Amino acid sequence: MLTILTLPVLNDNYIYLLHDPVSGETAAVDPAVAQPVLEVLDQKGWQLSCILNTHHHSDHVGGNLELKQKTGCTVIAGLSDRHRIPGFDRGVVERDVITIGTHSAQVISTPGHTSGHVVYHFSEDNTLFCGDTLFVMGCGRLFEGSAEQMWHSLQKLKALPESTQIYCAHEYSQANGRFALTVDPDNRQLQQKIELINQLRAKHLPTVPSTIEQELATNPFFREDSLTLQKTINKVKHTPIEVFAEIRRLKDHF
Ligand code: ZN
Ligand code: FE
Repeated sequence: MLTILTLPVLNDNYIYLLHDPVSGETAAVDPAVAQPVLEVLDQKGWQLSCILNTHHHSDHVGGNLELKQKTGCTVIAGLSDRHRIPGFDRGVVERDVITIGTHSAQVISTPGHTSGHVVYHFSEDNTLFCGDTLFVMGCGRLFEGSAEQMWHSLQKLKALPESTQIYCAHEYSQANGRFALTVDPDNRQLQQKIELINQLRAKHLPTVPSTIEQELATNPFFREDSLTLQKTINKVKHTPIEVFAEIRRLKDHF
């Protein structure tokens, strides 16, 4: 079993600590800051082996240099981001495999939010760390990519096993849910998911992980093929990419 700890940091970021009890190896996914990671490592008596970055934004790499300096960990990120990831050691591309002890993850390239964005899929652990590509009921903004690129990236995630647990890098679920309702108002599962999320947030609990199955049922960016949704946004008989682009545009102006 891979132990996964969720660390809420900054306004709404999550850092994930992955620990393999067999080998003792530990990874930090997108350490926005170093201090909370160092504290948990200290408490648990864990040694940081590597950092897994999904992309170069400062709220994902801000802790890289301090963690590397204090623990000697290796920094892994998308190869094309090598010039803009602090402490970069190892570049990965689509289908590369990285290991945390006995656990391995396949790298999936997901350009759209940024050009070099990658996600880490621990297939045997049924777990995906998707950074700012996929959120609970949402997806990342298109800073360095086109709607077409992001759509293709999301198709790769849509195709993963439905039981895959998804760990995204931000707690955006309540705002995402409010938008999702405007484009998919009659979706019962969406209404139920929002209720569940409101209950969790009332207790200040994270709304991650979600699952691919839940996202297929509720995430408007996974539901461009829904005729009801297409009718609501006036995009019947358009290509899936055009529908997706319109949902993204509406969300940007929401
Ligand atoms: Zn970002
Ligand atoms: Fe971010």
